[in-house]
Amino acid sequence: MSISDRYEKLKSEINTVAIGCGRKPEDINLIAVSKTVGIEQIQEAINCGAFHFGENRVQELVEKFEALPKNLHWHQIGRLQTNKVKYLIGKNILIHSVDREELVLEIARLSQKTGANTEILVQVNVSGEETKTGISPESLDDFLDFIAKQNGIIVVGLMTIAPNTDDLDEIRRVFAFLRKKYIDIQNKRIDNNIQMKYLSMGMSHDYKIAIEEGSNMLRIGTLIFGER
Ligand SMILES: *Cc1c(COP(=O)(O)O)cnc(C)c1O
Repeated sequence: MSISDRYEKLKSEINTVAIGCGRKPEDINLIAVSKTVGIEQIQEAINCGAFHFGENRVQELVEKFEALPKNLHWHQIGRLQTNKVKYLIGKNILIHSVDREELVLEIARLSQKTGANTEILVQVNVSGEETKTGISPESLDDFLDFIAKQNGIIVVGLMTIAPNTDDLDEIRRVFAFLRKKYIDIQNKRIDNNIQMKYLSMGMSHDYKIAIEEGSNMLRIGTLIFGER
C-alpha cells in the first residue's frame, strides 16, 4: 500500500471510531510519526493533508524542520536530553516528553533568554514500567506546581505511552487513568501556565482504544509510513 492509501485508510478509521464513541473526528489531532522516514515520504504525507509530524531524535527533527515548509507543526515525542533543548527552543515545537525538573529549568531558562514561550506536555509513566520515561502519577501534582513557578514554559497537556502488552484491558486502564488526571487538573488548577488542551496517547497498535478513552492527539508512525 502507498503512503496515501494508508493515510486515507487511517483517517477513515479514526473517523469511524470517533463517531462510534460520540466524538467529533476534527477534535482529534493526528501526528504522523516520521522518525527514520525520508523527506520524500514526509512530502507524500503532506500531500495527503498531514501537517503534524513527530520525531524522537532532536537532530533528525531539526534537519527535517529546516528542509520542509514552515507551516508544519513539529513534535518532539522521544526522551529529551537536557543538552539538546537548545536546538528546539523558538521553533514552535511541542515537546511531549517533559518528565524531570532539570529539563523544565533548561526549557524555562532558554525560553526566557530568547523571549519564547515554549509549550510542553508532561509525560506520565502510568504503568510504572521501568523501561519507560515519564514521571510517576504520584509525583504529577508536585511537578506541575514546580512548572507553574517558572516563566517561559507552558504546560498544554499530558502524554503517555501504553505498556507493551497484548492485554487490551490493561492498555485501556492506563489511558482511562490519564484521562481522569487530565480532567481533574483541568477542573482544579488555575495557574496561567498549566492548561489542559491536549491528551497525547495512542500509537499504531492502540489508537482506537485511545480515541475511546479521550485522546485528542494520536502519534502514529507504522500505520502511515509502514514498518520501520
Ligand atoms: C515511535 C513512536 C510512536 C509511533 O509508533 P508506531 O507504533 O509506529 O505508531 C509514538 N510515540 C512515540 C513516543 C514513539 O517513539
